[in-house]
Amino acid sequence: MQEYAKFTEDMIKTHTILVPDMLPVHFKLLIAIFEAQGYKLELLQNDSRAVVDEGLKNVHNDACYPALLVIGQFMDALNSGKYDPDKTALLITQTGGGCRASNYIHLLRKALAKTYPQVPVCSLNFSGLEKDSAFRITAPMFMKMLYAVLYGDLMMTCYNKCRAYEVKKGRSLYYLNKWQTILGRIFRTGSKEFLKTKKIYRMILDDFASVELSGEKKVKVGIVGEIYVKYSPLANNHLEDFLISEGCEPVVPSLLEFVMYCAAGTFNDAKIYDHVTKSSIFNKIGYDLIYSKQKELISVMKEHGVFEPLHDFEHLRALADKYINQGVVMGEGWLIPAEMAALAQSGVENIICTQPFGCLPNHIVAKGMSRAIKQDNPNANIVAIDYDPGATRVNQENRIKLMLANARR
Ligand code: SF4
Repeated sequence: MQEYAKFTEDMIKTHTILVPDMLPVHFKLLIAIFEAQGYKLELLQNDSRAVVDEGLKNVHNDACYPALLVIGQFMDALNSGKYDPDKTALLITQTGGGCRASNYIHLLRKALAKTYPQVPVCSLNFSGLEKDSAFRITAPMFMKMLYAVLYGDLMMTCYNKCRAYEVKKGRSLYYLNKWQTILGRIFRTGSKEFLKTKKIYRMILDDFASVELSGEKKVKVGIVGEIYVKYSPLANNHLEDFLISEGCEPVVPSLLEFVMYCAAGTFNDAKIYDHVTKSSIFNKIGYDLIYSKQKELISVMKEHGVFEPLHDFEHLRALADKYINQGVVMGEGWLIPAEMAALAQSGVENIICTQPFGCLPNHIVAKGMSRAIKQDNPNANIVAIDYDPGATRVNQENRIKLMLANARR
């Protein structure tokens, strides 16, 4: 087996870890949590065509598009000369599930082998993978990450709502930046303030509620699909910005839903296959804890009354049961039809399903299930948009414009 550079204890002090641009709102908070442990991380922002070209050069063209983009973004950053390869490491996520996302790390190492063999790759995973790395997530860090996801989801939801209608341009961004700075400081300094969730949730909600909105009626567009393409502006060609520019309100389901979907997978399997393990029991305990935190956030949002609360995850599971078995867990599995159904039920009937090239599971659970969702929600206007290195932005935007024309009719 080929040897590759390992991330060692010494490198925590000497190396900058580059982070791909997947969820800008959430990742800034997650980075602060690692910085409190002495790691130095930097969120990549390079998004020129060179990213795609580097991906095409370094990844086999039958790999899924998210792998191509993440690896392309890393290679483009290393080639830029901005980072010393002897003092740089890369961070990639591994879901630990059955899908190819667990194996992007090997594609990345292969891409690095020729030009940057000294650059180690760290894995962000919750499945006990890559145990020989000094990049570790401890239990207290995991708890902080959970809170970061909750705060990130709240900010993302309020921000998307407000910026679609704000009278004074930039006001919503001002509050987003304000709370990212405050929460980033709290996580970076190791303060326990982040535990005062209810108080902080209300303060965030009050700030965003103070943004003056125009009161126009706009088309609400839900965004579902493969997790990377759904959230990353690099991957979806700044889809949220495009929808705003088209006079729509983008509605993006929370990241916590994906976290809970992963947590539910193990104990669901235990039930389906009648095989209870230590890990499935542990996952159930973790799931219950996360669900209690989700319920707390939902109840604060309901009580505040200005913003649409996040989807309750148990409700999503019940919705999924109408369309698909919860044993379908490749890629985003049953979560996509559940999210589409929940959006349609809550009045967000126009839905874009982001489909990366090479993603068979999402074609099946998203495109394949949209007819069943439409049968139950006759007004649902669901369109699957393909994202791949050859698809032009104009093409994607034209298809979305067509969908919006139907929505406005
Ligand atoms: S979900 Fe799709 S894009 Fe993601 S790893 Fe699996 S096949 Fe690739």
